[in-house]
Amino acid sequence: MQALTDKARSVDRRPMNFLERMYLPAIAKGMFITFKHIFTKNPTVQYPEQKRPFSPVFRGLHILNRDAEGRENCTACGLCAVACPAEAITMEAAERLPGEEHLYKEEKYAAKYEINMLRCIFCGLCEEACPKDAIYLSETFTPADYQRKQFVYNKQELLIPNPVTDKEAYEKALGNRPKRETA
Ligand code: SF4
Ligand code: SF4
Repeated sequence: MQALTDKARSVDRRPMNFLERMYLPAIAKGMFITFKHIFTKNPTVQYPEQKRPFSPVFRGLHILNRDAEGRENCTACGLCAVACPAEAITMEAAERLPGEEHLYKEEKYAAKYEINMLRCIFCGLCEEACPKDAIYLSETFTPADYQRKQFVYNKQELLIPNPVTDKEAYEKALGNRPKRETA
């Protein structure tokens, strides 16, 4: 049968000679390789105390953004859900009521917004599709958990802290991302 790649190696089925049957050369070779690594730089990263720098284009956990006045940017237009190739985003729209102008930037907002992180492939298309700078992928990765349902993030879990009431947490969640104003 013709091999699809050049990675196949034929197995050496020759009977072992005397030295090979003693396994000493193989043990010495293995020990040499082990000892050789004692004098090389340790590549192990002591996470979480030590963290590796992420790539500038790293795409992590999603954040639902607010404007400088603390109002939610998302207008529940659904473009992110349509753009999502993994169908990971679901939402329900609601109309902003009089007196809620300080909560929601637009006349329509997402009453419910969920992202299933087990479906998400962190492609960033939702961020690209959003016309309101309402969603972005942060430099945080999704924490591990024991239950699948914990990976469906709801709106409260995704929303960035309010910059008016908790400026420090807001700046931290924003990371190195530049603040942008949208129309
Ligand atoms: S990052 Fe990609 S897969 Fe994940 S929710 Fe956004 S569009 Fe969908
Ligand atoms: S996050 Fe952006 S694209 Fe998605 S529904 Fe909200 S405003 Fe529309």
